[in-house]
Amino acid sequence: MRSLTAETVLENLKSVPGLTADMVSGIAIDSGKVVFSITVDPAKAKQMEPVRRAAEEAVKNISGVSSALAVLTAEKNAPPSSPPPQQKQPLHKISSRPVAPQVKHIIAVASGKGGVGKSTVAANLAQAFVAMGKKTGLMDADIYGASQPRMMGIRLQPETNDDDMIIAPTAHGLKIMSMGFFVEETAPVIWRGPMVHSAIQQLLRDVDWGDLDILVIDLPPGTGDAQLSLAQNVPLSGAVIVSTPQDIALSEAKKGLLMFRKVNVPVLGIIENMSYHICSSCGHRENIFNHGGARIAAEKMGVPFLGEIPLHIDVREASDAGTPLVASQKNHVISESFKNIAARIWTTLPAEKTTPRPPQAGRSSAA
Ligand code: ADP
Repeated sequence: MRSLTAETVLENLKSVPGLTADMVSGIAIDSGKVVFSITVDPAKAKQMEPVRRAAEEAVKNISGVSSALAVLTAEKNAPPSSPPPQQKQPLHKISSRPVAPQVKHIIAVASGKGGVGKSTVAANLAQAFVAMGKKTGLMDADIYGASQPRMMGIRLQPETNDDDMIIAPTAHGLKIMSMGFFVEETAPVIWRGPMVHSAIQQLLRDVDWGDLDILVIDLPPGTGDAQLSLAQNVPLSGAVIVSTPQDIALSEAKKGLLMFRKVNVPVLGIIENMSYHICSSCGHRENIFNHGGARIAAEKMGVPFLGEIPLHIDVREASDAGTPLVASQKNHVISESFKNIAARIWTTLPAEKTTPRPPQAGRSSAA
């Protein structure tokens, strides 16, 4: 079997009517997953949608490809040729639309490492804002393991409206958008920073978020380029850091905190998830990890400690069943904890909408 390369992808894209090789860029291949950009004139974006779909189909049909994602990017002067896939540089300019202009506050939920329950916390916090009567959105930027469609119980290919903007579906009272609507939720994939960044920017700029009080972004785990550039390019009102109590998770959380500080994004506080274990049959509480570590770390770092969420089977089962605990068991003691944390976060947000930060010197909008 021929190995899967960018050349193979380009070769197969030749058969797609309306698509030429110079429109394709940033082909990223990882374990059978292929992501690439199609550069189009913004005025023709709508007409290009069938071409985008046909291109995805053509790539999906290549032997060895498990999933394909084509992202339409708007750039009038298309680059003459594709940059080599390994090149770590801006791939293309992203949509020039403003980032969620009618959204009052955008907050990021971040973690230094994966598996600490960041997505679970983001989903339940978003639901807690809904419970507070806030118009809420949830953007799943954790494209390495987009789990929000599963946690929110929706799976569909979003449609576009007459303005060529992607319509965010509503689940349990909030608007949601996820890369998982476009690609399968599978084992973690490695996407290069610039590709992650442009995909996230597209979800922010090309989705019709409408008028919201708060948009919660479930960030990819870690403190790499993608998180940094998002923090720099999105008018974040603040970031919430999720950590488990173990030392290793806390030292990673500290890296996250320093990253946000470096780009002047206020850290709204730290949440300790899986803080202690509550036995589902007898209710016995056990501090299986180093309970309280995040509170101490928050104090040391001079940021608010927002609260603790225990490790409890009800949290996981609710997420797996497609309705986060805060939405499915509104009076559950852990739902109350999430609501208290959300209320604490809300009070720390500025009264005014956060305005976009000026672009950082030396960084292009697509960096
Ligand atoms: P991350 O986004 O940090 O990678 P997830 O939110 O996907 O982590 O959580 C990883 C797993 O842990 C999921 O199966 C989730 O249901 C479970 N989980 C997260 N937080 C809790 C909790 N407080 N109690 C029980 N299970 C949890």
